[in-house]
Amino acid sequence: MLDSKALESIPLVPANTADPAPNHPWPKPYTSAMFLSFDVDAESAWTSKDAGHAQRLITMSYGGYEARVGTPKLLELLDQLDLKATFFVTGWSVDAHPAMAESILKAGHEIGHHGYHHLLPDPGDPWIEEELERGFEALKRRLGVKPTGYRAPYGELTEELRVALVHHGIVYTSSFRDDVRPYRHRLADGKPGTIELPVTASYDDWMHGLSARFSPRSIFPKEHVLSMWKDELDEVRDWGAMVTTVLHPQCSGRPMRLRLLREFLTYVKSCPDVWITTGEKIAENFLRHEAGSRSAVP
Ligand SMILES: [Zn+2]
Repeated sequence: MLDSKALESIPLVPANTADPAPNHPWPKPYTSAMFLSFDVDAESAWTSKDAGHAQRLITMSYGGYEARVGTPKLLELLDQLDLKATFFVTGWSVDAHPAMAESILKAGHEIGHHGYHHLLPDPGDPWIEEELERGFEALKRRLGVKPTGYRAPYGELTEELRVALVHHGIVYTSSFRDDVRPYRHRLADGKPGTIELPVTASYDDWMHGLSARFSPRSIFPKEHVLSMWKDELDEVRDWGAMVTTVLHPQCSGRPMRLRLLREFLTYVKSCPDVWITTGEKIAENFLRHEAGSRSAVP
């Protein structure tokens, strides 16, 4: 039923009041960028929907694939292609699979914050701060890492969370779907927020590879996804902008999906104008230009 009271309370302003994304150049010789990133949820992808899944062993095994096969295979692929990426890892995954988390770090990739239990936040949720702190604590205790990047579990943020991220020293977030270049958030009180590295929705592998355990639709074949991914990239290259991947080892680490990713990344590597890099590097480039420096990180 239409809730007219709730509709009346919607503010008549854009939900995101950030200034337009500045046209900061990419480091020479690049004229566009790919933020290569993975979300490591492991079993917390499933327990965050229903804690009771912890006792459902086959449901849990979808997430368990990440530590047993998916992540090692992706690390192997990145090593073969000589690429560095950002892995947003839930604190639960780090605690439950410390060897997997350590292998990501040891391979020289950036580790980002992805919540602890991968919970979907709603305004006023009492656990928001605790979930954030537990995530930081697990990354520090197990890996000695203080992350500068944060990707919201389920790609959702509330204002309380956005403010808390700044207080905790997070430099960049990567969850919004509203741009093709990095921009600086503006908090509700007018203060500056994190740098946003916007996500490219078509590069979320769950959309095409596995959207639910009991998905009502079939997954898409390689040719279908490759065609979308290449078109998205090629147009963004013409725009001088960036794309951001949201890949999951329990999806892109599956044999057929890995084959697709190998072919796609090999194509991206063949484009000399595309800077394939981590969120940390893109945020550094943004900060340098924001500070007025003309130099860009190599
Ligand atoms: Zn996730």
